[in-house]
Amino acid sequence: MVVVMKERASDAEVQAVIAHLVERGMDVHRSSGAARVVLGVVGSGKVDRGLVALMDGVHEVLRITEPYKLASRTFKQEDTVITIGDLKIGGDEVIVMAGPCSAETEEQVHATAAAVKRAGAKVLRGGAFKPRSSPYSFQGHGEEGLRMLRAGADAHDLKLITEVMDASQIEVCAKYADIFQVGARNMQNFTLLRELGRGRTPVMLKRGIAATIEEWLLSAEYVLSGGNSAVMLCERGIRTFETSTRNTLDVSAIPIVKELSHLPVFVDPSHGTGRRDKVAPMARAAAAAGADGLLIEVHCDPDHAWSDGAQSLFPVQFERLMAELRIIAPAIGRSICLEPMARRGWAR
Ligand code: PEP
Ligand code: MN
Repeated sequence: MVVVMKERASDAEVQAVIAHLVERGMDVHRSSGAARVVLGVVGSGKVDRGLVALMDGVHEVLRITEPYKLASRTFKQEDTVITIGDLKIGGDEVIVMAGPCSAETEEQVHATAAAVKRAGAKVLRGGAFKPRSSPYSFQGHGEEGLRMLRAGADAHDLKLITEVMDASQIEVCAKYADIFQVGARNMQNFTLLRELGRGRTPVMLKRGIAATIEEWLLSAEYVLSGGNSAVMLCERGIRTFETSTRNTLDVSAIPIVKELSHLPVFVDPSHGTGRRDKVAPMARAAAAAGADGLLIEVHCDPDHAWSDGAQSLFPVQFERLMAELRIIAPAIGRSICLEPMARRGWAR
């Protein structure tokens, strides 16, 4: 349930309500940023909602009917904005994260980081621990890959997102990454999700290959209920009967999740389509449908990539896409990085 406090409720009144709920075995999550204090109450304790409604400073008590609680719009009406240094995810600006599928060599990471930065990306993506369908495929360089990625991001003033596949990798990834990616195959790795909930590093949770939106939001709830409120979601395509693309990118998930949840929603058109020539159209569609950001595979030499080359954009294709997004974003009231234009002297 959600306890909405009166606008002028005192801190003592808020604390008294929290104490009442905790004494009855509930976990209380205080929502920040709203004009009024809102308490999300979860757990299996016994609470009389009528009694809570009568407590001093309480405006109303609502039941959250969705199975996910803290991820729901009922708990938090305003959009969640995740701040990482000077980067704001989930605000007006459409944030683009781009880079190779995996870190291969120092030169490859640097060349790709330079290219995506030049085009206007804010975050470098790249894997050092790779979930591959075959055990014989390149599995990533591990910590050495993380080191390359961090150096590439730092050299070009980018934040870094990288995948953590298992709870045992959190510690090493935390030394290098600004954002942890939970891959589609791990969306229901509940041990990993719980562990990430204990930390404060922002988490991007990809939609599982056969997950419903409700299951996806319940997985986000695992992280949120552990106390980590910095969760963003990423639609990356689901398995359907269609074989012309690697996955079927569910663009309709964007407005649906934006209505159900306050969490930022990203789209990965690279894994969503598996085909380089279909990445830009789907990225444009995602931006137009209201995505808060995009996760895109770009490689300095995609035809020789060690993983996912067929869906990786050439830098010049990525640059063109960013220019197109600069037209689409303002059309729906969003902004996007204008630095590349300023460099060319086009902006005032
Ligand atoms: C990736 O981003 O490189 C990746 C493996 O993605 P997904 O988990 O969506 O397949
Ligand atoms: Mn990939």
